[in-house]
Amino acid sequence: MNKNDNNGVSEASVPLSREKLATAHKNAADLHEDSANQAGSRERRIRVVETTQAAPDEHMIMLQQANAHLVIATIEAQKLAEQVQIAKDQLDHLAHHDALTDLPNRILLNDRLAQSIALAHRQGKQFAVMFMDLDRFKHINDSLGHEVGDQLLLSVAQRMVSCVRHSDTISRQGGDEFVLLLHSIEHAEDAALSAQKMLTALALPHSIGQHDLHISVSIGISIYPDDGRDAETLIKSADTAMYYAKENGRNNYRFFEQNMNALAAELQAIEANLRRALERQEFVLYYQPKINLHNSAIVGVEALIRWQHPELGLLLPEQFVFIAEDCGLILPMGRWVLREACLQARIWQQAGLPPITIAVNISALEFRDNKFLENIRATLEDTCLEPRYLQLELTESVLMRDADSANSVLHALADLGVKLAIDDFGTGYSSLIYLRRFPIDTLKIDQSFVNQMISNPEDASIISAVISMGKSLKKQVIAEGVETSEQSAFLQAQHCDEGQGYYFGRPMVAEALAALLQTGVPLLF
Ligand code: C2E
Ligand code: MG
Ligand code: MG
Repeated sequence: MNKNDNNGVSEASVPLSREKLATAHKNAADLHEDSANQAGSRERRIRVVETTQAAPDEHMIMLQQANAHLVIATIEAQKLAEQVQIAKDQLDHLAHHDALTDLPNRILLNDRLAQSIALAHRQGKQFAVMFMDLDRFKHINDSLGHEVGDQLLLSVAQRMVSCVRHSDTISRQGGDEFVLLLHSIEHAEDAALSAQKMLTALALPHSIGQHDLHISVSIGISIYPDDGRDAETLIKSADTAMYYAKENGRNNYRFFEQNMNALAAELQAIEANLRRALERQEFVLYYQPKINLHNSAIVGVEALIRWQHPELGLLLPEQFVFIAEDCGLILPMGRWVLREACLQARIWQQAGLPPITIAVNISALEFRDNKFLENIRATLEDTCLEPRYLQLELTESVLMRDADSANSVLHALADLGVKLAIDDFGTGYSSLIYLRRFPIDTLKIDQSFVNQMISNPEDASIISAVISMGKSLKKQVIAEGVETSEQSAFLQAQHCDEGQGYYFGRPMVAEALAALLQTGVPLLF
């Protein structure tokens, strides 16, 4: 009896199975990248054929199973290969993109810059590099936390992307710095238009969690080939121009100019020296009197920091405070200012001079610092100054940025007996509700209004309105930047409580102020 008949498998089906088997083996061989060893494969085929003939039914099943396994293995190998490719692509993407915003990173930007340079060089064209740095981002990050900071960066990145053409490259350099590569511009004005578009797009508030955050950007622009022929120089030039935009009041753009390099070097030197300045005690406080406009008595002084730089001479806060804020050095610097001011107030009191309030300016970063309250308390205790003689000057933006947490800090300060003033009042956004709720004692009208009030009726009306609002909210009102007798007379006529400005006295060293306290400001009205 034929064995094939026995198990009911027809003669014809055997060679077919053998064929399939051979193919499967070949696949397996391919899978193991062993196609070179065809002789070995042939041997195996012969062996399989022999065994099949020995026990056809059992082996047929085994062969079919093996066949199925091999097909599956082949498919899986293919899948695996695809996954490996995907993982490779992902790794490649990660290496060239920023993890938070998914924008191209420094490496990819440099690649694209190299391409642009080669192309522009060949075609004799120009292109622009824009260096963008968010203004006061560090404050938001430090005060509201990194998560909010990250969300804000993401939102900023999306706005930036929406402002540029697909062919342009916008990259994140790290932190709050972004670089835009604007391809083939015809004129420098094209870059200016893009920069303006960017400023406008970013000016709208960003809604992050329960916060409506305002952030602006300072932009520096460099043009190939005038401002640099290689990627590094182009970015450096744009970065330098960006510093000028910051110096110019932030929220604007500047084109690079060759003479800017000198300032960049100076800024770098300042940053490097700032830390040592604290140790070397190169900071000094100047004091500017605040005058009661009804009787011209000195009611207080504002402490204003100066840096006695060994080479550059006496530097004003606008030349270094923003750098200290950027690098966080404002915290130890602010602690020094507070202690020095409190000590000085005590020295004047102990010398028998009439007791006056001493005002200290507080930056956003200091106000948000979680050791801020404790430091105020400890300093008052150490210097034995009664809290009612200390006034803290805070700007509207510091107070309104996170009004609820500001409110609790302000109440704790008020409970301590410290006086509080809103500095530069009128230049930021004050919510009237918070103005009523915050335990603020004084509104300091910004000097820009005082400056113009004689020539500009609108500024005069703003001043009158702030004075009457202050009165109805039971707050003291002081005008800063009073420079002339007309201004002083106008304020007096409007029943403004106090004035501060060059007309009454410039910021001066402690000894000069002590002398002024003794003699008093001559009756000026
Ligand atoms: P601020 O608190 O608004 O201080 C008033 C500024 O106006 C001072 O400039 C003062 O010298 C100037 N000023 C006073 N009277 C007149 C006037 O009649 N006309 C004009 N044109 N200006 C007048 P300064 O000392 O350069 O300070 C600038 C800013 O730097 C201050 O503005 C304050 O925001 C900041 N600052 C000063 N000292 C410190 C400090 O110790 N810590 C912090 N965080 N910031 C400080
Ligand atoms: Mg002030
Ligand atoms: Mg001010």
